[in-house]
Amino acid sequence: MSTIVSFKDVQKTYDGEILVVKNLNLDIREGEFLTMLGPSGSGKTTCLMMLAGFETATHGQILLKGREINRIPPEKRNIGMVFQSYALFPHMSVRENLAFPLKVRRVPKSDIEARVKKALAMVTMEKFADRMPGQLSGGQQQRIAVARALVFEPALVLMDEPLGALDKQLREQMQYEIKRIHAQSGLTIVYVTHDQDEAMTMSDRIAVFNNGRIQQLASPSSLYEQPDNAFVGRFIGESNELPGVVQSIEGGLCGVRLESGITVKAAAGTGVTAGSKTSVLMRPEKVLIGGAAEGCDNAFSGRVEDLIYYGDHLRLLCRICGNDDFIVKVPNDGEGKRLQVGDVINVGWRAEACHALQ
Ligand code: ADP
Ligand code: MG
Repeated sequence: MSTIVSFKDVQKTYDGEILVVKNLNLDIREGEFLTMLGPSGSGKTTCLMMLAGFETATHGQILLKGREINRIPPEKRNIGMVFQSYALFPHMSVRENLAFPLKVRRVPKSDIEARVKKALAMVTMEKFADRMPGQLSGGQQQRIAVARALVFEPALVLMDEPLGALDKQLREQMQYEIKRIHAQSGLTIVYVTHDQDEAMTMSDRIAVFNNGRIQQLASPSSLYEQPDNAFVGRFIGESNELPGVVQSIEGGLCGVRLESGITVKAAAGTGVTAGSKTSVLMRPEKVLIGGAAEGCDNAFSGRVEDLIYYGDHLRLLCRICGNDDFIVKVPNDGEGKRLQVGDVINVGWRAEACHALQ
């Protein structure tokens, strides 16, 4: 697969002191849906703005299709953008809003109508060409904003929290729409969000940002199953966390002595060595109970401290490994159904199912 965008050792400082983007190296593949995910202030928007050309990198290179674009103005980069605030021109009809980027790019008048029609069809808004933005709902306005980013057939589309202003139901519907557009068009989309569910369900790959650095770049399932470090493990999904010190390490597995004195076996994450402090992260749904827990690499008996009914599953808070709110998710059937607060049960998991991380 060919590379469409490369960030090479890119840095950005706004004040000449603090680097808000630190040595960013990232290759974006042609046709992929790549999401930059991270907490507020981690540098996602800054990266997108440098790629779009609205901010300049203070160090390093940004390449688009192999060509350095650091000094190329935004309108010459052939990149479409969608922001959280729809930013449609309020005094122009939908049709005029969509024609605008084409006029700026001097597309012949005879082609404009057809291109506008095609872009409206992509977001299933053909019937709204003559409306003014004020006559559209928030979701409809955002569809038009997406259509406007696609209308000039850019090489790349950047979206910065485009669904942040929409309510949950509309947001989920638009996630689906954007995925459909991506699949049908073959466009490369670089998407920014702080919402991990949105990132997990939409992306081919996710770059997890924190403090101006990519913590991990991987597919949604790899991020979830094999987090590189504790930040990623905590940020994506839910985890139990057991702090301790690495005692021994062999063949990718390590023994970790927890603060309670108990030793657990875990998959060793990046940079973990004997003697290092670590956090063992453990997904609640990978924990087994009852007969299934016996014979696991890590097997304990624990007391059920609390039990919460979720319909499709149950959540137990168990006292094990010196932790009295260790979460276990169990299916709402058979064994799970008979549990009660105060029960002492077998709890266990395989070494590979938990990760000792830095
Ligand atoms: P994110 O999109 O992940 O929330 P940003 O890229 O917006 O992060 O911000 C990264 C850091 O840069 C933050 O500390 C923010 O305050 C700072 N920052 C962003 N834009 C500017 C600006 N125009 N001038 C000065 N500082 C900025
Ligand atoms: Mg932002």
